[in-house]
Amino acid sequence: MELPYAEPYKIKVVEPIYRSSAKEREQWIKKARYNLFNLQSDQVFIDLLTDSGTGAMSQYQWSEIMLGDESYAGSLSFLKLKNTITDLLGMPYFLPTHQGRAAENVLFSTLIKENDVVPGNSHFDTTKGHIEYRRARAVDCTIDEACHTSQFHPFKGNIDLEKLEAVFKNNPKENISLCIITVTCNTSGGQPVSMENIRDVSALCKRYGILCIFDAARFAENAYFIKTREKGYENKTIREIVKEMFSYVDGATMSSKKDAIVNIGGFIALRDKALFDKASVFNIMYEGYLTYGGLAGRDLGALAQGLMEGTEFDYLEARIGQVAYLGEKLRSYGIPIQEPTGGHAVFVDAKKFLPNVPKEEFQAQTLAVELYLEAGVRSVEIGTLLADRNPITRENRYPVLELLRLAIPRRVYTNNHMDYIAAALANIWERRESITRGFKIVSEAPIMRHFTIELERA
Ligand SMILES: *Cc1c(COP(=O)(O)O)cnc(C)c1O
Repeated sequence: MELPYAEPYKIKVVEPIYRSSAKEREQWIKKARYNLFNLQSDQVFIDLLTDSGTGAMSQYQWSEIMLGDESYAGSLSFLKLKNTITDLLGMPYFLPTHQGRAAENVLFSTLIKENDVVPGNSHFDTTKGHIEYRRARAVDCTIDEACHTSQFHPFKGNIDLEKLEAVFKNNPKENISLCIITVTCNTSGGQPVSMENIRDVSALCKRYGILCIFDAARFAENAYFIKTREKGYENKTIREIVKEMFSYVDGATMSSKKDAIVNIGGFIALRDKALFDKASVFNIMYEGYLTYGGLAGRDLGALAQGLMEGTEFDYLEARIGQVAYLGEKLRSYGIPIQEPTGGHAVFVDAKKFLPNVPKEEFQAQTLAVELYLEAGVRSVEIGTLLADRNPITRENRYPVLELLRLAIPRRVYTNNHMDYIAAALANIWERRESITRGFKIVSEAPIMRHFTIELERA
């Protein structure tokens, strides 16, 4: 018999989770104003809100917590991280920050001014927030295939070169702050960008003299997809692929809470000394001195170790394999998902799942609440609430895709949990025709409203 797949790790520490009743959940979600961010974690059985900072650290990472050097300046944990980033990414300069959005805040403070445009592939919500807060505009240049969930494309995170060149041609050079390649592209469904596309986008940026930067939160998962889907990379190691990816860009912002498998942390990696010097001033103002940037020494050490573990093929195979396992289960029940499954999450197509709920009543949010009530599973809306209002007209922006994201924390849940999630969604799928009403907004913040929004049943 051929041996089945099994994870290349075993579990040393266990965290109990509470199995609530449907009645309890009904009360809790009402009290949370139907915003899953407002739930207490002990009101959640399986938490798929995010894969950010929710991973399980290894025994080697926990050792780094003990070894942490807490010196204000010149910490050895900082040096360990600096060497790791230089070796792994080939970037000579780096600044630690407390998380990904802090890296965006520091770097964008040096690069983006009012009325600028920032092209890229489906900018992440905090990225867009930091662009729009500076009265600049994020222009989405993702390929059209990303918007058709049932259509297979191996690299749905790719940037459409014609769309990008149009931005370069139609705007004065001094108003194009930078081009952002998000690897993998979270908003389009955790979809990867091919090496060919990275190379082409980089060449186009060079031709027009525009800075090209990675939003690198899931760079290792992107490298795994390049290895398994792109011709010519089958026999390269993940780290060789990572090195090549970064060789095409001028720098990166990183949320280490994703592919570096730590609970907090981020950084900026840069190639150019002059840009590093400029960004350093903002890092000291906003984050902390250059050798800790808002983190404890122990966090820097765990992050360095996490970067090494996160770029091991065996780890990535288990990680992305689990996401694919859940996707396959849902597919077998006929549930519409973004195809193929992404690196960190399965994205359910809520428009197709709940066609009887009007889009003005937030289909993906409605499905998120249903899933919580059904089984205590917390997911997140990637749809109209997240898309926010147009900053000028204040109208709701209805995105092409209305998705429910099931983000899988790293090394945390077993495939039994995946089976449970899939069964819960299958139950809702069976009664989907009877779900006809969604939600209306009671109150919302002026920017990034989804975190704090309050809703009531429509
Ligand atoms: C999470 C994330 C960020 C922001 O990082 P935080 O650590 O949450 O501040 C930026 N870009 C992408 C693609 C992300 O997934």
